Amino acid sequence: MTLTDPSTKERLHVGKVLCIGRNYARHAAEMGAAVPKSPVVFLKPSTAIVRTHGSVVLPAMTSDVHHEVELAVLIGPGGSNIRESEALDHVMAYAVGLDMTARDLQSEAKKKGRPWSIAKGFDTFAPLGPLVPADEVPDPQALTLSLKVNGMVRQHGHTGDMIFTVAQLISFCSRVFTLEQGDLLYTGTPEGVGPVVAGDQLEAACTGLPSLTVTVV
Ligand code: MG
Repeated sequence: MTLTDPSTKERLHVGKVLCIGRNYARHAAEMGAAVPKSPVVFLKPSTAIVRTHGSVVLPAMTSDVHHEVELAVLIGPGGSNIRESEALDHVMAYAVGLDMTARDLQSEAKKKGRPWSIAKGFDTFAPLGPLVPADEVPDPQALTLSLKVNGMVRQHGHTGDMIFTVAQLISFCSRVFTLEQGDLLYTGTPEGVGPVVAGDQLEAACTGLPSLTVTVV
């Protein structure tokens, strides 16, 4: 999987796709989960990425796939043990993304104490919108996020409501994983998640970023 650096037009290999769970208090509440004291981190494979105007394919293994609209961050300069104060210097670009989730498989995994990799990692489960250079997004905590399904608003939130900021997430993740150019970070979803069905048109939007449109098939 490759992406294009929106500033230099250089092709980049996508590395790790880090994702954050329960990063908005009202979403944690709708899932019946407590507000976490440290970031809830999981990974998706890069094969889950699909770009705008693509399709989200419903897998046979699940009958309850949910949309989660999120701000996605593309890492430029890599590093480990990155200070929070310097973390945003490691961002190359932003995009709006969707963390598609097989909620039935995730609930079962939670019950059994198993990882979320299958529930979150199917092909096409990480739609990613067009990338915008980081210098065009002065404050990633000042953005409105929304998701429409067939033209109806299902999610509406604000990145100012994140429990852990983008800078805190980059700093935290870099203490575990060396961050490399081409890594992505999906920063969690606000409330209003819900199921999608074949034929649905999803339109994810975030202030200042081009929207992401995908069809569920
Ligand atoms: Mg999510």
